[in-house]
Amino acid sequence: MDPIIQKIIHGFKHFRKAYFSDSTDLYARLKHGQMPGTLIIACCDSRVDPAHVTRSAPGELFVLRNVANLVPPYHPDSAFHGVSSAIEYAVRHLEVKHIIVMGHSGCGGIQTLMSEEWHDHPSEFLTRWLSLAEPARERVNTRLAGLSRELKLRACEETSILLSMENLMTFPWIRERVEEGTLKIHGWYFNMNEGEMYDYDSEKEEFLPLDDNMEFV
Ligand SMILES: [Zn+2]
Repeated sequence: MDPIIQKIIHGFKHFRKAYFSDSTDLYARLKHGQMPGTLIIACCDSRVDPAHVTRSAPGELFVLRNVANLVPPYHPDSAFHGVSSAIEYAVRHLEVKHIIVMGHSGCGGIQTLMSEEWHDHPSEFLTRWLSLAEPARERVNTRLAGLSRELKLRACEETSILLSMENLMTFPWIRERVEEGTLKIHGWYFNMNEGEMYDYDSEKEEFLPLDDNMEFV
């Protein structure tokens, strides 16, 4: 057997032993339904698994992952809206209390977006998808034109998180809940070079290390 698949199967056996042995009743409860308190929107990148990074147990996070953790604006039409339907389910049916948009350092999607030639060599699906973050790219290139490529990439990774947060607010039933105070939207940035998580502080308009940002509740 392919050792890649073998490792995955081995992992599942460990999981089964941990969660389905007599000593745990977690799935005895979860099999009846889920009540996660948080929707987390993260990148597909193999290094930033939200449940792993936050040591969350099954049933705690409703996870939505896509390339570069992007959220499209509210646009109900006849297209297939995988992202918006997951958001709708989490907010209107599961009634999550928090939405976390979690970006990260070294994001391949953002690197592609920020490369000069990305429009010249379109890929079948990625180019169109990443164009959602075009406003973030424009903001960075306009306001931070003099910065190094590395700093621009980080700025674009952070700005695209803010863009996704702004786009979340275009969904009327999200805006309504945020204004009522029953739903909070957070922007997190996982810096894997530092092993640090940053939380966006909307008053200070900057990302602050989560540990030091005690107002986060
Ligand atoms: Zn990424």
